[in-house]
Amino acid sequence: MTTAAVIGGGIAGTATAIALLKAGIGSTVYEAYPTGADDAGAFLTLMHNGMDALAAIDAHEVVAAKSFATNEVEFSYDGGALPVQPIGSAREDLLAPRTIRRADLHRVLHDEFVRRGGTIAHGKRLASFDGGVCFTDGTRAEADFVVGADGIHSAARRLIDPDAPEPRYAGLAVVYGYAPAAPHPAPPATYRMIQGATAFFGYTTDPGGTTWWFARLPGAELTGTRETTPARWRERAAARFDGDRNPAAEIIRATGEDVFGGNAYDVPTTPRWSSGAAVLVGDAAHAASPAAGQGASMALEDSVVLAMCLRDEPARVDAFRRYEEIRRARVERLVAVSGSQGAGRTTSEEARRRETERAWLYGHHLEWSSPITASPR
Ligand SMILES: Cc1cc2nc3c(=O)[nH]c(=O)nc-3n(C[C@H](O)[C@H](O)[C@H](O)COP(=O)(O)OP(=O)(O)OC[C@H]3O[C@@H](n4cnc5c(N)ncnc54)[C@H](O)[C@@H]3O)c2cc1C
Repeated sequence: MTTAAVIGGGIAGTATAIALLKAGIGSTVYEAYPTGADDAGAFLTLMHNGMDALAAIDAHEVVAAKSFATNEVEFSYDGGALPVQPIGSAREDLLAPRTIRRADLHRVLHDEFVRRGGTIAHGKRLASFDGGVCFTDGTRAEADFVVGADGIHSAARRLIDPDAPEPRYAGLAVVYGYAPAAPHPAPPATYRMIQGATAFFGYTTDPGGTTWWFARLPGAELTGTRETTPARWRERAAARFDGDRNPAAEIIRATGEDVFGGNAYDVPTTPRWSSGAAVLVGDAAHAASPAAGQGASMALEDSVVLAMCLRDEPARVDAFRRYEEIRRARVERLVAVSGSQGAGRTTSEEARRRETERAWLYGHHLEWSSPITASPR
């Protein structure tokens, strides 16, 4: 059996390992941290295309069990509200959009890979390639090929191409919080998106009554983010909505210590996605600003397409080339779209128009049983 070394046990890494297994390729996942990603406190929404990719590898049901449905979105601007509208197509089944904590998504995918017989080695940080994979603890691993799924600050990307561009500041910081008894709870399965005078706020309320919120704060790159306390993030976010005619500041200040924040970065283009026996997936290959809410869904699509290419193309070099051919235009279009919307002001009409124009994003379908050569780009 062909074997792969997957570097990074985040969303792209574990999903790729599951997809490879389904394609008949064994792999070990090597994750730098003892348990998982260090910024796993935030949450994300998997859109139709992300759930569709999970369904291609039979992992949508386990993810659905740890998440809640998010079918509708209300936009409001300066206190005025526009009618509710479905996110993309209003699907009621398990392939409808779901909101999930990043930590839960990581855990579910890890558990699913292990349940299917896979191995995840923790505390293994990629250092270099020497025909095999060398880790910073001095150990090494052998494999037929390597998948670099080590996120936006990817070491694999630099090893494949030392001149690869570094992540770029996306012009905003993002703060997240969980507030168990916040005022103004959102209706079930609904996101409320609010453009304030200087910042953007979004929230949803889970079936247990906890409000999950995020605040996008345009501005200069912040320093000392790792040392910033939850209370400081909370006040920094709330202050940006003081004076607005919306409930953002009130919800933020109703939150306890469950607050996380950081600068947002993107990687608009990576000239080389593969070299020799190594290939990149997820944020290692392309990273969109969080504004589009699509990075995880794109990482899942990458994972499935790469495995299908390796399944169907007899030569690995052709599989890597075909994978890039199918994926590059789509992900770079997304990065361009999200980069343009993250840091500026969004009117309700613009936000609504963007949602309706997103059929190309949400309507994407991966049919595992079809040969990849027949798949649309
Ligand atoms: C604040 C924020 C909000 C977001 N919101 C959304 C959203 O709502 N919807 C959405 O779809 N996406 C969202 N995203 C994007 C999404 O989280 C990413 O696109 C997605 O996590 C990419 O998955 P990945 O596996 O490529 O990278 P990651 O999830 O970052 O995983 C990379 C893994 O590699 C490990 N690693 C790093 N370096 C090494 C190394 N040298 N050796 C071994 N392992 C290593 C890391 O520890 C980590 O576990 C958001 C991102 C951020 C930052």
